[in-house]
Formats: sequence, C-alpha cells, structure tokens
Amino acid sequence: MRKEFYINISKKFSVLVLIFLLSACSRTTIITYNIPLYEYPSDWKDIAVREKTIAEYSKYLIGRKIFLDPGHGGDDRKNKNKKGDVIEADVNLHVALYLKKNLEASGAKVNISRMKDTTIALADRSVLANNSGAEIFVSIHHNAPAKTEDDYTNYTAAYYHAGENNYEFEPCSHDIAKYIERDLSYVMRNPIGLGSFDGTYSDYNIYPGEGFSVLRKTIIPAVLIECGFHTNHLEETRLNNDEFNQIQAWGIFRGLAKYFKAGKPEISFIQDSSKVGNNSLKISFALKDSTGINPKSIQVFINKEEKGFMFDNASNVLSVNVNDVKPGEYIIRVIAANKNGNHSFPYYKKILVSDSFSPELEN
Ligand SMILES: [Zn+2]
Repeated sequence: MRKEFYINISKKFSVLVLIFLLSACSRTTIITYNIPLYEYPSDWKDIAVREKTIAEYSKYLIGRKIFLDPGHGGDDRKNKNKKGDVIEADVNLHVALYLKKNLEASGAKVNISRMKDTTIALADRSVLANNSGAEIFVSIHHNAPAKTEDDYTNYTAAYYHAGENNYEFEPCSHDIAKYIERDLSYVMRNPIGLGSFDGTYSDYNIYPGEGFSVLRKTIIPAVLIECGFHTNHLEETRLNNDEFNQIQAWGIFRGLAKYFKAGKPEISFIQDSSKVGNNSLKISFALKDSTGINPKSIQVFINKEEKGFMFDNASNVLSVNVNDVKPGEYIIRVIAANKNGNHSFPYYKKILVSDSFSPELEN
C-alpha cells in the first residue's frame, strides 16, 4: 500500500517534470526566434534621415581621398565559418562597397583594391594605396579565433601599426582607428574585446616587432578593421545579411566622418636662413588647427632622435635649434595634436647640410 502510494506520487511527479520540460523547451524556442539579430541605427533606418546625415557629414568628407581595401578574395577564400556558408572575402567586399557608396555620396574620393572577387596580393594592396594619392587606408576584415572549435568569441577591433616606442609608429593611425572602432562596434552592438580599453590594438599584439605587413608597407595613415568574428554562432548569420552589411558600412562611415570633423593640425615649414649660424641651425614650422594646438603633444625627432624645441602659443610657431651640426642629411619629423586629440598626418622634412654650412632644404 505504502509502496503503491510512492509509485503514484512518482508517476505524477514524472508527468509534471515532463510538462515543465516541454514548456521550458517551447519557451526557449520562442525566445531564440525573438532575439533581434541587429538593430537599425536611428540615423540610418529612415532614408530621409540617412540622406540628411550624409549631407551633414559631407562638410567634413568632401574632397577627402580614402583608399578602401576589402581583405582577401579570388584565390584567397579559405577563411569561412564552420558550415562554409560565410566566406570572409565576400563579407569584406559587401561592407567595403556599401562604405564606398556612402563616402562618395558625401563627396569623398574613393579608391578600392578590388570591386569584385579577384586575387590581389598583399604587397600589391599597399602599392596600390601608396600610388593612389589617397590620404588614408582602411582595410576591412572579419576575424576568426586561434582555436577552430571556438564559436563563442566575438568582438570588433581596429588595428594600427606598431608600438608607441617604435619610430615607424604614426599616432594619427591610432586616432583613425579610435573613431572607426567606436561607431562600428556601436552599430553592430558588439563588445570591443578584452585586450584593449577602447577596442583599438597595435598590430604588434598579433605579430610582435613586425605588425601586419599591409599596414607596415602602406606609407599613408592606415588602419585594419576586424569588424566581427565570422566563426561566432550568431555573428555568422548577421554577416550573411545584406542589410546588416549596410549597417556595418554605416558605422565605419560615421566613424570616418567624425574623425575628419575633429580635424588635425597642418604643419608647414618656415624657411629662415638668416638664423643659420656657424655650427648651429634654427628651423621653424607653422602649426595650424582651427581648434588650437595642444603644446604638450608636440614631438620633434631629428634622424629618429627626439629633440627639444620651442613653441610660441600666440603665433603657433615651432622652432628647433640644432647645435654642432656636421655636414650631412637630416630628417626632421614633427608630430602635434589638436585640442580634440587628433594628431597631424606624418610630417617629415629633409635637410641637407653642406660643408659651407648652407642648408639645402628639400620637401
Ligand atoms: Zn582577413
């Protein structure tokens, strides 16, 4: 009797557990289908608002020359998700073409390494960019984790070349990376990864002492974006969606527009041969920026060695004195940031000092 009672209870309990599990499963299924894959940026969803935004940003982008590089393509189509239906080369191209469209609509001039699924060698991408007359280089990629079984990792990252103590490092590339990263990760609703506080990374993190060759060999300010991970189980669905690719392009476009809106100092050489002495050289540069120059940001290098200088806040003139100058060739590099924190584009001045100590100045 007592035993039967327990059996009855146990049977009833089993039925309850079954009902609970079924309801839990069905609830899970409904929740899964209700998760939005992406959201519409408020300045993109409505076409009239989108066009107004493009017109607003054209003030900062008109005439700008930008080189876009959709990564991989042609013979290089090996990076894909596990199912094999999300191919990185294709996603990169879709995003780049939508970005090109937005930039051109705002008056920028765009060069691109490929318009379709063609093979372009890595070294050729830098050569194309360097010869294009473009001001900046933006390479577009999607990422994969080191372990193939990892379908969890996902974040947006923007890379710039090299470490801060490296002479080749150009802080303006880091500035561009910051602006793109902020707006791209925001529209994608992606995190920025745990290896950085703002989602920007030196390419030395991946290849210590070398960085990415496409960034190292490109002489104009350059960034490489890893928009997301095509191996992530949710991201792979979004990346194959044309509308989502347009939203990604919108994020990069907005980042670039805001970067140029924040401006950057322009540096020009002031020739002043009267200041040339027997064994010392005084050279001056004019620093120009509508927001003002941050004097603490200024750095001067002569043949890779950092040197002291004088900066006059009123006239924005930077003066460099070099003592005990021997005949030879000197490369002077000047870096300055404006009050929005944006750094000047790479500025180098070559000076030839002859035996008679009449410096020949070259651009
Ligand atoms: Zn790639």
